[in-house]
Amino acid sequence: MKVTFPHMGNAWIVIQALFETLNVDVAVPPPTSKGTLNLGTKLAPESSCLPLKINLGNYIEAAAKGADTIAITGGIGPCRFGYYGELERQILRDAGYSYEVVILEPPDGSLWGLAKRIRYLAGRHNSWTKILKAIRFAYRKSVALDRVEDLIHAARPRLAEPLAAEKLYSKAKQHLIEASEDKGLEEAVFWVQQSIKECQAPLRGEKPLRVGVVGEIYTILDPFSSLDVEQQLGNLGVEVNRSIYLSSWVGQHVFQGLAQGYHPLRDYPRLAKPYLPHFVGGHGQETVGAAVQFAREGADGIIQLLPLGCMPEIVASSVLPRIQADYRIPIMTLTVDEHSGRAGVQTRLEAFVDLLERRRIRTLTREDVLNVARE
Ligand code: SF4
Repeated sequence: MKVTFPHMGNAWIVIQALFETLNVDVAVPPPTSKGTLNLGTKLAPESSCLPLKINLGNYIEAAAKGADTIAITGGIGPCRFGYYGELERQILRDAGYSYEVVILEPPDGSLWGLAKRIRYLAGRHNSWTKILKAIRFAYRKSVALDRVEDLIHAARPRLAEPLAAEKLYSKAKQHLIEASEDKGLEEAVFWVQQSIKECQAPLRGEKPLRVGVVGEIYTILDPFSSLDVEQQLGNLGVEVNRSIYLSSWVGQHVFQGLAQGYHPLRDYPRLAKPYLPHFVGGHGQETVGAAVQFAREGADGIIQLLPLGCMPEIVASSVLPRIQADYRIPIMTLTVDEHSGRAGVQTRLEAFVDLLERRRIRTLTREDVLNVARE
């Protein structure tokens, strides 16, 4: 058995660590590229959402590395994610790929089904103690990764040299890939904190604009899907705050709330209640709750990211204008699909950031202006 899995941003670092700790043969798909998407788009139904197309491309590329088993998480509720595993199995079989698909989800609200599938993937050579230790370490790695990503979001608009943040980010990821125990994870995060302090430019004038990014989890976490929205915003001098992180999603979705992750999601449904009191599948309700939270925290603007045709996020986007009006905060919705281009996204981001800058200047007090003038 050689296991593979779909890409979703940096999640591969965590999943690879999990399987390697358990001595399970694993084939990480090559990084997602336009070629990957083209492969998936050829097989997927035209109306399917972007993540499914990318996933299929990942599996085809992983098959060339000898993968024969797919590990994927499952889902429930009114969203296509719950069908992904089965749908992918059938599409791949029809295309001539004989993959076994293991769907990791707690069926009927019990963790027993999940445990059985984990046991199957881990193999008989691993004891439950070793499996639980490996899961714990992988989970801690995902929290460290989230912390690093957050530090990089804050660093991008503050570092004197624009490429410095990207260099730090890629070195930090390498440290995390190589870390094989908790101490290594802590050291990697500490190294990023110290490196940022050393090359941080003194702030001039106002603090950087702060934008909350909300929306569909895959598009938020996967830079290929979002056409590097977070990095593009950072290059425009914006600090990005995400609504959702890998570890919080794993804590809520896979561990059923037994772990909370770096940025717990638990308050979002309560905050969303006046606007969207029901679960609508995916993270639609969390998108609304996170938008309220960012607005209350004084973010300068909010961007909602979603793949074309994503039903939960379409529902969320229909109520975001009310939040925009109630809290007087600009909200932009950015929809992506296989035809989206980086230049188009960049133009929209530039226009949005320009709007936020003008808005901030209008709200400067006389004292603020004098402070800026003095520096
Ligand atoms: S959340 Fe949206 S993009 Fe993700 S599987 Fe569901 S419908 Fe598709």
